[in-house]
Parts: sequence; C-alpha cells; structure tokens
Amino acid sequence: MAGAETGGKRTRHTLAFMRRQEQAVHELPSFARYLNKVFDFRTAAAGLTDARLAPEIPPSAVFLAAFHGFVFRLPSFQQLQAELSQPALQRWIGAERAFGDDVLRYSLCGFSLEGLEAMLVQINRTLKRNKVFQAGRVQGRIVAALDGIETLSSYSRCCDACLERRVQVRKAGIKVEQVQYYHRAVGCQIVSSPVKSFVAIEWLQPHEGEETAALRLLRRLPALYGSRLFDILLMDALYAQTAVLNVAEEIGWDVVISLKQNQPDLYRSAIRLFARREADSSCTEQHGGKSYQVQLWDTEGLPFSGEDPRLVRVVRSEETVTETHYRQGQRKTEESSHEWLWITTLDPRIFSAIQVRRLGHDRWKLENNGWNDLTQHWAFKHGFLHACKHRPQAAAENGERHSVPNQGLAAVTLILLLAFTLCAAFTHCHSKLVRRYRLTTLEVARQLRCSVSKLPPRIRAPDCPAPEPQTI
Ligand SMILES: [Zn+2]
Repeated sequence: MAGAETGGKRTRHTLAFMRRQEQAVHELPSFARYLNKVFDFRTAAAGLTDARLAPEIPPSAVFLAAFHGFVFRLPSFQQLQAELSQPALQRWIGAERAFGDDVLRYSLCGFSLEGLEAMLVQINRTLKRNKVFQAGRVQGRIVAALDGIETLSSYSRCCDACLERRVQVRKAGIKVEQVQYYHRAVGCQIVSSPVKSFVAIEWLQPHEGEETAALRLLRRLPALYGSRLFDILLMDALYAQTAVLNVAEEIGWDVVISLKQNQPDLYRSAIRLFARREADSSCTEQHGGKSYQVQLWDTEGLPFSGEDPRLVRVVRSEETVTETHYRQGQRKTEESSHEWLWITTLDPRIFSAIQVRRLGHDRWKLENNGWNDLTQHWAFKHGFLHACKHRPQAAAENGERHSVPNQGLAAVTLILLLAFTLCAAFTHCHSKLVRRYRLTTLEVARQLRCSVSKLPPRIRAPDCPAPEPQTI
C-alpha cells in the first residue's frame, strides 16, 4: 500500500511537473492581458482609422493583423495572409472572415498615422510613468540616440515621396550611371534602458537633407510628449550643427555628438590643443574578447565654429585595441589604434571624460542593436506597400475624387515600432519565463505564434449575455 501511495504521489508530482513545463511557454492571452492592463491597448486599437468607406474588415483588425505579423516575426504580407486563414487568429483580431494582403495593403495605404503615433507616445509615457526607463540611467539621466536609416531602395519602383540619387552600376562590364529611388528616415530611440523603445520617427522628404528631418523630429518631441522624455541625446557627426545645438538647448537636452572633420575649425583646434599635452586621464576595458587601452583628453571652452562662437567641451579618446585570434592552432595577437572625438554639453563635474566616451560609444549600439535588429529580425527593409497604386479615393475641394496620398510605408513602420517596443516591454518588464529560462526574444515570438492554435473557441449560448471579447 505504502509503495502504491508513494507511486501515486510520484505520478502526481510528475504530472504537476509536466503541467508546469507545459505552462512554461508564452501564450497570446497572457501577452494580451499585459498589453491591455498596462497600455489599454485594445481601446487604443479600436480608435484607429483609415481612408476606406464602411469597410467590412475594420481598421482595428487590419492593424492587429499587421501588429501580430510583426510580433510573430513573419517575413512578409504573403506569410501573414497564410496565417490569417486560421479562424482562431481571425477571431483574435476581430475579423469576421479571412482576408488577404490586398485588404491589408488597401487599408494601410490610407491609414491614419496620427492614431498610430499617438499610441506610440502613450506607450512611451506609460513606460516612463512606470519607471521602466529608470534602469540603466547614466548619473540619473535617461539617454536617447538619434540616427538615420535607409528603409528601401529600388531602380524601378518609385512613388511621389521617393528620394533619388545617381549611382554607378556595372552593366555588361561597363560602368553606367543610373537613378536609384530610396526612402530614408530619422529615428529617436531610448538607449539607456533595457527596453530600447522608439520615441518617434520622421521621414526625409524629397530634396531635403537628413539634418532637416532630424530637426523637424526634435522640434516635434516636446509637443508630442508634453514633457522631457529623456535627458541626454547622442548623435552622429552629421548633426554637429548650430541649429541642432540650439534646439537641444531650448528643450533642455544635453548632447554628445561625434566630432569629425565636417566641423574642420573645431576639429583642428581640438587636435592642436591636445597634441601639446599629456592625456588628462586613462582607463582600460575588457569586453567582447578585446582589451582596450584608452587615453583621454578633455577640454572646455573651444569655439564651436567661425559663425557660432559658443564655447563647447571636446573629449578625445585614443584607443589601442588588442584582440587575440586562434588561426590554424596558433595564437595571434592583433593590435589596432583608433581615435574618437566628441562634442558635449555635459558638465565635467558630473560626467567625467570616461563617461562621455562611454556615451559616445553607446551611439554605435543603436546601429548594432536598434536599427540593425529591426533590419535583421523584424523585416524592417521589406519595403511593404512601396509605390502601391491601388489606394482608397477621397473627394478634393472641387468635388473630384482622387487617390489618397500613400502612407503605407510610414504606417507599417509605425506598427513595426509599436510591436518592437511592446514586445521589449513584455519580455523585460513582465515575463518571468524570460528571466527564469533565459529565453531569446525570437523564442518568445515563436511561442506566441504557436499559441494561436491553442486559443479557446468563442462559445456562447443563445440566451446568455455576450461574454467579454477575447480578442485584443
Ligand atoms: Zn517611394
């Protein structure tokens, strides 16, 4: 009897263990509960609009379809269309039937960008209110980075908003010049927090430089967020300009900007000054299998340019990087030297040259983690909806009907940034499983996608009141 009891207990324990193992995966309902509870996601999605007249598939269902496409990391709209053949997913996003990528494209081409941007802003404000951006602050400051990215390029397809450039290509062995069409945007992303949320994105218009779009983005931020969302802004040398420094000063951001030869006067005077003296400080670092010997020079009070004599602080870092390789069983040590300069408005009494250097290098993390992650794992460069001719019509003032401007690429990009930010918030702020089992974000995406088939059917007796909708 005792043996049978022990055996029974063991079976119960084994069953309980197996149940726990089964539960140790992420499922859509818990993802949705988190999004709804923390960000009121369902209400926000229900308020989205597009340019179609009385559509059978509501804009919220189109949004949720594209959103889940990104959450599941699907590579294309064709793949999403295949996924939407599942009745469980149709119910989940609030669609009465399956729909194809023609509906997705037609809706998204005329999607209201204001609604999507308002969602992104609300999510970031909630993250800040919930103190998510407190983690990783530098001397108590939240750090963001601004950078540009090219989202697509083509020699054949173009739209009204395309940028153009002439490039040299080889045809039958002969170099010829050809017009290439492309789209480029500037994005601002929080980089100090583990949740590297995107704050805003601005598209370059035809015939304008990246700095013009960047200034437009920076000037829009206070109006969008109502308060200063972050404290320090990291930027590339391209943005070392009077107008950028003015906006930052006006809004109250400190900046760390790479200094290269595109600011020749400041660059030369810093190099001349530093060449005359020993380094002000030094440090060593080990990471990524490399060892860094760093010497730092730091000065305040150099005039920014001939036209803008305001005094700025410049930090220079001379770095010797030692890396050990094993080639054909032989251990080989390679050494390389690098030089970096930054302009900063950070107070030297609070931020040492070592900290300025670290912040300066953080900007590169945006290229390696932010945009690069979007490109590699989130289908960011697939050029969804580019040059889509089939668009909803709207009446002009003279009563003539014409196609609405194509907002497809901008709409899909904003949905992607929403999915990126919310998935990061879910994995870093909510998921116990990620912490316990060290799951990768790709594994979380796979689990969420697999859980569609496990969604419970919506069952309702004819005389019962309607249950709470299960969709998000
Ligand atoms: Zn275009």
